[in-house]
Amino acid sequence: MDHTVIIAGGGPVGLTLAAELRLAGVDVAIIEQRADQTLTGSRAGGLHPRTLELFAQRGIADRFTAEGSEHSVIPIPGATQDISSLPTRFPYWLGIWQNRIEQILADWAQELGVIFHRTRTVTDFTEDADCVTLSLEGGAQMRARYLVGCDGGRSLVRKCAGIDFPGWDATASFLIAEADYHDEPEWGIRYAAKGINGLGKLEDGKRLRCVLTEAEFKAGREPDIRDLKDALITAYGTDFGVHNVTWLSRFTDATRQAAHYRKGRVLLAGDAAHVHSPAGGQGLNIGVQDAMNLGWKLAQVVHGTSPDSLLDSYHRERHPVGARALSATMALNALHRGDPQTDALRTMMGEMSAFDDVKHWYAARMSGLDVRYDLGEGHALLGRRMPDIELATATGTTTVSALLYAAKPVLVSFTDSNFGDLTCWSDRVRTIHARYSGSWELPVIGTVTAPGAVLIRPDGYVAWTDHDTQKPLQSALATWC
Ligand SMILES: Cc1cc2nc3c(=O)[nH]c(=O)nc-3n(C[C@H](O)[C@H](O)[C@H](O)COP(=O)(O)OP(=O)(O)OC[C@H]3O[C@@H](n4cnc5c(N)ncnc54)[C@H](O)[C@@H]3O)c2cc1C
Repeated sequence: MDHTVIIAGGGPVGLTLAAELRLAGVDVAIIEQRADQTLTGSRAGGLHPRTLELFAQRGIADRFTAEGSEHSVIPIPGATQDISSLPTRFPYWLGIWQNRIEQILADWAQELGVIFHRTRTVTDFTEDADCVTLSLEGGAQMRARYLVGCDGGRSLVRKCAGIDFPGWDATASFLIAEADYHDEPEWGIRYAAKGINGLGKLEDGKRLRCVLTEAEFKAGREPDIRDLKDALITAYGTDFGVHNVTWLSRFTDATRQAAHYRKGRVLLAGDAAHVHSPAGGQGLNIGVQDAMNLGWKLAQVVHGTSPDSLLDSYHRERHPVGARALSATMALNALHRGDPQTDALRTMMGEMSAFDDVKHWYAARMSGLDVRYDLGEGHALLGRRMPDIELATATGTTTVSALLYAAKPVLVSFTDSNFGDLTCWSDRVRTIHARYSGSWELPVIGTVTAPGAVLIRPDGYVAWTDHDTQKPLQSALATWC
């Protein structure tokens, strides 16, 4: 083998996954066609609360918050919404451009010893009982025990693996551009018959970034400045004298999801597994969350700690989350139309969002804070994210997120209960006795009964509580650890 795991694609998702695998001591390499993380244009504009929580669990959230801008009031269809009362350490949307997110992740991956094969392109692969053999442009080959396709929406890995990509064809095409302008535009969002038009200032205040719905659906050809001017004139009656276009790209609302996130030794994550419109800013965020779900599982399988079947839980848990995100972006896209019926629907949505319950439900849904993996019936925490509470321990105060820096499972006991002999788990599971007297607040659910003990997976989800008496701790340890 050249590497134990090869990741095709070093975008935000491949980088996160590679770092997670290195944290667990896996020999992992990224094959990436770009020479560095430089992106033409900005693409994703920020991080949602759950993504920040996940980064906090690895001790790197402050690298992003130090550079980003906090927005506790966020737009929702027909209104704005204050999310500052969400029960999380990060009750805001963090504005930070994708090229900075990628650079921070690349630095983290590098520090952990991820191997990068840059300016290399995967062109094909074959799989046998023991390994995956990749072909690279130029004729070289590389072998690995597992291959993960983090190679974006047009994923070659997905296509070569023969994984179906069902979904919905595009109904509209959109232009996104960054350019200089002569005439000061009317900044903000406008709804047109087929979708949204938005104009915003870039950081220096002298340039604009626009998203425009094209009057006619266009795809298959790279857009040029004529397309940009036409779309501006259709939307605003003028092209504002745009010139010096430094980024111009077209995207659509095509919405598709891989039928299987795993096939044998091949796995998919991020855009390779799901594509949809950028409405709601979901793609990068759920991709990073895919990576955090997969990394520790794949590490345990390659180390022989867990059986190969643990990898099937990756599809089982993340496919439904992806499907919900696809559905949310389709709903938002529909709400971006500017016909009188949709205007009325948006107004209703705006009125509904005045209710705290609706506001919290929407914010938790779009931010990933409401995710519950189906781990069976049990305490409200089972399958949900463990709140990042402050814990008093014999050695001082700590937080749940700090306990997860090493990406290892943690058993936290809040009582003096005896869990039997856990010696045989001591190299895999950290056991902590702690005190916490605050309330247990979950997004959307509200206050829940305090558990006496919780088993937290490396991705921060609760795998067991002492209330789940039908499932003994030993069985949860055997399943997840
Ligand atoms: C206009 C726009 C705005 C967006 N806004 C948001 C937002 O606000 N919030 C949000 O969460 N998401 C947003 N997104 C989505 C976000 O950009 C993507 O979801 C995210 O980039 C997906 O990350 P990824 O790592 O899965 O794939 P990518 O970022 O596509 O990375 C794939 C990587 O694989 C490499 N690669 C591809 N093929 C090969 C190959 N054969 N061999 C080697 N390397 C290969 C590529 O060079 C690339 O580096 C937006 C997208 C667009 C287009």
